[in-house]
Amino acid sequence: MATLIDGKLISAKIKEDIKAKIEELKAKNITPGLAVILVGEDPASTVYVRNKEKMCGELGIKSEVYRLPESTTTSELLDLIDKLNENKAIHGILLQHPVPSHIDEYAAFNRISPKKDVDGFTDVNIGKLVIGKDTFVSCTPNGILAMLKHENVDISGKHCVIVGRSNIVGKPMSSLMLKENATVTICHSKTTNLTEITKQADILIVAIGKPKFITKDMVKKDAVVIDVGINRIDGKLIGDVDFDNVKEVASKITPVPGGVGPMTMVMLMSNTIKASTL
Ligand code: NDP
Repeated sequence: MATLIDGKLISAKIKEDIKAKIEELKAKNITPGLAVILVGEDPASTVYVRNKEKMCGELGIKSEVYRLPESTTTSELLDLIDKLNENKAIHGILLQHPVPSHIDEYAAFNRISPKKDVDGFTDVNIGKLVIGKDTFVSCTPNGILAMLKHENVDISGKHCVIVGRSNIVGKPMSSLMLKENATVTICHSKTTNLTEITKQADILIVAIGKPKFITKDMVKKDAVVIDVGINRIDGKLIGDVDFDNVKEVASKITPVPGGVGPMTMVMLMSNTIKASTL
């Protein structure tokens, strides 16, 4: 039976470290500042932004939230990002994803100064990650790596299978695991022999957005299983992994909720602290 990787507990410990760092910065007259831009009223994004604001308050990070109407144009958004790039009190800029479809999302994310790109979405930071340089890493993959390290999971030489190749989770996760010397396989919707591959994983990371998609027969005995998925079913949050059955074969597993989710937010705070020291 698997032991639980408790994201709430691990993130709470990281929060304590962050608080200590903020105190050190305050002694040097630096107050880390994060600007969050929300365009439109997507309900999930509205909740995420509110939670980010709350955590900033809790930790002593100055937060400024820009709630822009759905009708905002790309050029108006770029103007705001330009102003925030120039603002010395703002160290990190986060553009809440997704933005309305009429906005040029690629242009908007890339307008953020790489030094303030606390989400690690700019081409510059993604490129640095791919070539193994120190940079801002996308918060969810960064949080997953922090969890694995906290749990003392052996990564070097292990086979890590990642299901999902999105730019915010799967792809950056693969670069991080390569840097940690794992042998990495990435699967996606066109992968034909998925079970054959997932069954080889020592570390299985799943980010596809399909409830309970990964079943017990797809998992090797004693694998470490990380479930990134968040699916809302009848008001409940369900992961991409069939937790109740997979926990019988895995050695360690993350729950949903309370696994990867809480880590994502603390990594954003951690990146903001890092940005304030650049
Ligand atoms: P995307 O929709 O951007 O990507 C989904 C990926 O899954 C794609 O690469 C897709 O393949 C792949 N996929 C879809 N169906 C299958 C299948 N049947 N077999 C194999 N691969 C498949 O999703 P995100 O990466 O943004 O998010 C994934 C999940 O993680 C969502 O539930 C999301 O809510 C959650 N999430 C959770 C976070 C957290 O903090 N816990 C943060 C970010 C996301 P293809 O490329 O071929 O289409």
